[in-house]
Amino acid sequence: MQPKDSGAVVFHSEDGQNITIQCRHCRYSRTASIESLRDFGRFFKVTCRCGERFMASVEFRRHLRKRVDLDGVYHDPGTGEPEDIVVEDLSLSGIRFATLRPHSLESGMRVRISFTLDTPKRPTKDRTLEVTKAEGLHVSGRFVGAPERDPDLGFYLMP
Ligand SMILES: [Zn+2]
Repeated sequence: MQPKDSGAVVFHSEDGQNITIQCRHCRYSRTASIESLRDFGRFFKVTCRCGERFMASVEFRRHLRKRVDLDGVYHDPGTGEPEDIVVEDLSLSGIRFATLRPHSLESGMRVRISFTLDTPKRPTKDRTLEVTKAEGLHVSGRFVGAPERDPDLGFYLMP
């Protein structure tokens, strides 16, 4: 746990399901399911049994990965034109997708992609991707310069 500028104490979820919240005053800790915190959004208020109150925030480990079926586009590095993709696999740090048409993407290339999460808010995520593998229509890569924290995506990737 570590204090941040906002004053909120950030806690990490190792398994994407539970979070252990420790009081910074008395060190009493308790475990809560992330599901139970979902409605609170990025920051939530904790009142400890010792009376201490503080703001807390959940951060997800980057390896959380999910099989998905999401619409998106990549921008062809040659033409700049958006080309449709289906995102098949997603994490905070990378993605695997299939293009609908043959492509010229190769390992090492950087491309701009965007995709829309199928949640009620339907947020669109824009990322720069460094391609690590291209096999047929399937392309894998890791995000470059992605925001360190993305609550939309973090909650979306919860098991
Ligand atoms: Zn306490």
